[in-house]
Order: sequence, then structure tokens, then C-alpha cells
Amino acid sequence: MEFKKCERCGCFFTSNDNVCYNCLTKDKFEMSKFKNFVEENNISNITSLNDLSIQTGISSKNLNRFLGYDDFNELANQINLK
Ligand SMILES: [Zn+2]
Repeated sequence: MEFKKCERCGCFFTSNDNVCYNCLTKDKFEMSKFKNFVEENNISNITSLNDLSIQTGISSKNLNRFLGYDDFNELANQINLK
């Protein structure tokens, strides 16, 4: 266990996760929302992170962070942003 700074809210916490306990719930919710969105929509129409943010209702900062995770590796390649 390391002492870490939450990537979402900036608070300090002790865990092996990237975000604190409070944010973990929010992250999980948004990640599944994001995955559902990708499954249900034609993502080739998405041209920017901002566009994706507007359509999913998830902040571009969080989307950018999700796309950097291994879980979203394949998805990040599909979306081909930036
Ligand atoms: Zn947090």
C-alpha cells in the first residue's frame, strides 16, 4: 500500500487504486457509462475529446484519464482522438 494523491479529487489516501475510496464509486459509474456509450453509439463520429465529453456527460479530464488505463487501451485506439 502506498500513500497516494487521488487522480480525481486530489486528496491523499492509502490504497493500490488510482483514486480515493470516494471517487472509486464515481469512477466505476462513469467508466461503465462510457463503455455503454461506446457500445450503443457510432464512435467514428466522435472527433475530439471535448465532443466525447459533451456526448457522454463525463468531463474530458476524466475521459482522458480512463483512456490511459489498460482497461480502455483497445477503446482508445478505436476512438483515435487527437
Ligand atoms: Zn478522490
